[in-house]
Amino acid sequence: SIVVTGATGNLGRHVVEQLLEKVPAEQITAVVRDEAKGADLAARGVKLAIADYNAPETFDQVFSAGDKVLLISGSEVGNDRVGQHKAVINAAKAAGVALLAYTSAPGSLKAALADDHRGTEAALLDSGLPYVLLRNGWYNENYTEQLAPVLQYNAVTQAAGEGRVSSAARADYAAAAVAVLTGEGHENKTYELGGDEAWSFSEYAAELSRQTGKEIVYNPVSVEEFTGILAGAGLPGPVAAVIAGVDASVERGELVVDSGDLGRLIGRPTTPIAESITAALKG
Ligand code: NDP
Repeated sequence: SIVVTGATGNLGRHVVEQLLEKVPAEQITAVVRDEAKGADLAARGVKLAIADYNAPETFDQVFSAGDKVLLISGSEVGNDRVGQHKAVINAAKAAGVALLAYTSAPGSLKAALADDHRGTEAALLDSGLPYVLLRNGWYNENYTEQLAPVLQYNAVTQAAGEGRVSSAARADYAAAAVAVLTGEGHENKTYELGGDEAWSFSEYAAELSRQTGKEIVYNPVSVEEFTGILAGAGLPGPVAAVIAGVDASVERGELVVDSGDLGRLIGRPTTPIAESITAALKG
């Protein structure tokens, strides 16, 4: 089987959707922690396995020898994500899976957010399993799904100076994962994945202005100010600091990925930020 964890998340749903176009539903196992959330997938013939990264024993029966596994990194930032991911890696190792692909972060990213990914990569390499590191760059949707305050204040507030981001749509990263899960020759490869075109927040604001017909400016602030703004919007303090810390990395160019790996794996150009803006404005 092809086994996908985090299958009811945003990326996981794209992966399962694209897998269904390539392989019979009964060859796909969606690992979910909330059975009800996966009911629509089960209705389409996808197998469900119920397991939680926080409860290693729930993964005991999930994998079989020869499976190809996509471990989608957990979203509980501040929790022991390395420990969570190790639970999955250990179970996959015990079952003797053929491949374990992990959604990591770009090798160039030095922000605190990358620490869990580096820790997981080390655990995966230590396991001796055939692995693939899908070092995903940033999603277009990280920005285009946060347009409400931008459109309210006609300002893009970030702390990244004129730094650039090679973002791509979640669907693009999902297509790369599907290429690895359904193709051959990816064992023990590391892919640095990012969009074809890097852009700055000034360019992002200009594109938003063009598409909305309003004057939307880029309001660059310091990392400290940005942390305060995010905390004021309701994020827990430590999480706000981690997210704002990403902008310091953007300013230093750590989210520019120019390997071309993503376009090569998916065999087409990546989705430009302008296209994701259009989709978001249509709502
Ligand atoms: P989502 O938050 O939409 O999905 C996260 C998935 O992980 C969900 O399916 C969630 O389950 C599952 N999950 C979280 N904790 C557990 C747990 N304890 N046990 C089992 N499953 C768990 O994120 P995306 O799909 O958008 O992105 C995938 C991952 O990529 C994120 O989790 C994060 O690690 C990383 N990421 C990358 C970004 C980038 O720009 N490259 C941006 C943001 C995140 P459930 O459906 O039940 O909630």
